[in-house]
Amino acid sequence: MTLVSFDGVTVALTEVQDNPAKYARALERAKKAPGYAVCRCLPTSPKTPLRLVIRRYGSLFHLARWPDDGHRHNPKTCSFYRAASEPARSINDTLAAIRTIACGLDVKLSTSLSVRTVDQSTRLSSHATPGAMSRRAAPLLGFLQRVWEEAGLNEWTGAPSRGWGTCNAQLVSVLGDGKLNGKPMQDVLHVMRRYDDADGSCVLAELRSFLDRIKTTPAKADRALLIAELRSVEPSKYGFVIKLRQTYETFFASKAVIESAVDSFRSAWAMIGEASARVVVLAVIERTKEDNLRIVDLALQLCNSTFLPCDSSFEVAMANRLVAERRRFVKPLRLEQGDAMLPDFKLTDTTVPTAIEVYGMQGNAQYMARKAEKQALYAREGTPCVEWMPPIDLASVQLPAAA
Ligand SMILES: [Zn+2]
Repeated sequence: MTLVSFDGVTVALTEVQDNPAKYARALERAKKAPGYAVCRCLPTSPKTPLRLVIRRYGSLFHLARWPDDGHRHNPKTCSFYRAASEPARSINDTLAAIRTIACGLDVKLSTSLSVRTVDQSTRLSSHATPGAMSRRAAPLLGFLQRVWEEAGLNEWTGAPSRGWGTCNAQLVSVLGDGKLNGKPMQDVLHVMRRYDDADGSCVLAELRSFLDRIKTTPAKADRALLIAELRSVEPSKYGFVIKLRQTYETFFASKAVIESAVDSFRSAWAMIGEASARVVVLAVIERTKEDNLRIVDLALQLCNSTFLPCDSSFEVAMANRLVAERRRFVKPLRLEQGDAMLPDFKLTDTTVPTAIEVYGMQGNAQYMARKAEKQALYAREGTPCVEWMPPIDLASVQLPAAA
């Protein structure tokens, strides 16, 4: 458990992440003086305090890694830890869709955030600038996964659990004061807060003010993005009703949008409502002429019970087992060309990192070819690998002991 100090209090980091409204005043005071919070993840206090940036996102505050200071945190337990040499993706690629800048992320999405006519189409792309050197644009899922990776939410350090409050804090810390399609990130992207009974009104007011800014006039419809945990998708008289966790607000979606989502995100779709899994949604929202909120495009990411991304229900089962056994591991995300050969999971608490492969699609020729290629690669490089081939019982799979 990582402790943090600010404004004369020392509390668990997760307590602050789960209750941002409760600590808003104290964080605001500490932001003014001395201008930072302190991380207490090391067994003995270092001479120079481990400072944390206090940032505002929306109407509340969160803690973020101090620039170039990530390597000083406890590598075993602290979510602010980052190896000094860890290379960021696309750091020198000026045409990349997603770039890390000093204050957050600079993102160009393939989805436009403002459209001229409301009822024309649900999937309008922004017009590409003529010329060969125009900047690439990220699809919704690519963006969601990249933010998850930047936030370190695909890594597990052996904690007993992780809730939405921590995810929210780590996501907004990465998004920062960045830009999305040229607009200020915080104006166009809201990360759902964990609903907190004690300070619910504050969280509600923040969401309401974000949603109120989404306006539709006869000439133009503004759009905004929401990252949240999906609760349910139910058919209704006019299409579908989408419910999210942490809010009673409901959203509508057309049959076309839902059919496209079913088609594009099969594994996630199949697990909606399953107790062992969580489904994260990145939704593009606009307001109908009748003043309802409508989702016009979305991406779904299947996760295990602690919000680690997974590609199938079998991976969910494996990730849940690894968490229950308090293992340290990473779920590598396949975001760029060349990422195809990454393992499904990588155990990092064994003497040598161990690959874990979940071979769940026996019978698919392309998949079987990839499997053979991976097995050859592991043999060649001498990488230890644990294989699980469902429907064999997961409990019978032997995992190497942690070093
Ligand atoms: Zn720390």
